[in-house]
Amino acid sequence: MRHSKLLLLLALAACSADSVPATLDPVAREYVVLTLRMGHHDPAYVDAWYGPDSLKARADADTLPLGVIRASAESLSTVLASVPLPAGDSLVAMRHRYLRAQLGALVAKARMLGGERFTFDEEARALYGVTPPAYDDANFDRALARLDSLLPGAGTLAERYQAFRTTVEIPSPLVDTVFKTAIASCRARTLEQMTLPAGERFDLEYVTGTSWNAYNWYKGNAVSLIQVNIDFPIPVDRAVDLACHEGYPGHHVYNASLEQRLVRDLGWVEMTVYPLFSPQSFIAEGTANYGIEMVFPGAARVAYERDSLFPLAGIDPALAEQNAAVRDVMLGLNHARNEVARRYLDGAIDSAAAIAAMERYWLQSSDQAAKTLRFIQDYRSYVINYNLGRDLAGAWIERESGGTETGRWAALTALLSSPRLAGDLTEN
Ligand SMILES: [Zn+2]
Repeated sequence: MRHSKLLLLLALAACSADSVPATLDPVAREYVVLTLRMGHHDPAYVDAWYGPDSLKARADADTLPLGVIRASAESLSTVLASVPLPAGDSLVAMRHRYLRAQLGALVAKARMLGGERFTFDEEARALYGVTPPAYDDANFDRALARLDSLLPGAGTLAERYQAFRTTVEIPSPLVDTVFKTAIASCRARTLEQMTLPAGERFDLEYVTGTSWNAYNWYKGNAVSLIQVNIDFPIPVDRAVDLACHEGYPGHHVYNASLEQRLVRDLGWVEMTVYPLFSPQSFIAEGTANYGIEMVFPGAARVAYERDSLFPLAGIDPALAEQNAAVRDVMLGLNHARNEVARRYLDGAIDSAAAIAAMERYWLQSSDQAAKTLRFIQDYRSYVINYNLGRDLAGAWIERESGGTETGRWAALTALLSSPRLAGDLTEN
């Protein structure tokens, strides 16, 4: 038996059912090591890591086969189930559920990487803890009809949509200025409602050739690297989307809040690693997308765009209202990407049909649709986190808010600084 494998088994035995750990901490440490070990098999698996070097050294001592990682995670789940929970401590109960769900997803991902096939819905349940609702094409066709009335003129709807969106693109030399302005506005509005960790900050970079449009790489110590893809021209309102989603109060604030509240204040080591294909992503993407509505509720967004970003980008502010109406329809069509992904990944349609469906329902150019297909191939059922995550996170925040702005932000803050997962959003 190789040395590091022996160490892993000894570590598991140390918190086996014969000697039940008094707290969740030993289980959390083993969960971290197993998560880092999964990263050896899939470079996209570990999205963020800023934990103790000793755990990383254990994980990197060698590469364990997927079957061993899976068996270890299953054993650890058994140990976890035996750890007694203090009565009346809802946060520790939440921590317990979090570790159970994250370990369950780790097992599922090990099975997938080992060659087992899951349907789209099975995968979404196993990795993110939700069953995505199905939408029929008639639902999207109705949205397209609404869009048709918003974009009169000659040519196909896709041609009219793309022509309209071209009129609100940020000129290349102004992209950085517009993005920095949007991020500063989102940060200022978030700071009016939330206390952020001291010293929090981000770096901003522009990249090409990725299948995603933007990404937040969390580095620990309340620092993020935000990357924005500039393969295609960027419509001006996307600056608001991405500034809220990647930055404030989205991914950057989520990660920094978890680090402050759970890692620094409570010593929960499991939060120092973020496995991308896990239930945590449902909350991460859902809150990041609903964060746009938090910062710019209702008509506040179009007012900000019309009065600030459109003039800054040299775009006619008179287009802002029409652009917002088009965007509202496209928000509903976001679910079309789930349906395309489901059909493509379940083998019901091929690549060409998937690209054609994205052209039809997302009104993308063939180049953009090909990029969307690459994203679906890379991230698979992850796509549900953006829209279903937004829907459930938003509904929970509004339910918890008591109908006040202060209540909304208190609910968001609770969500961003706790180990809540999808199941916690649907329970009372
Ligand atoms: Zn995101």
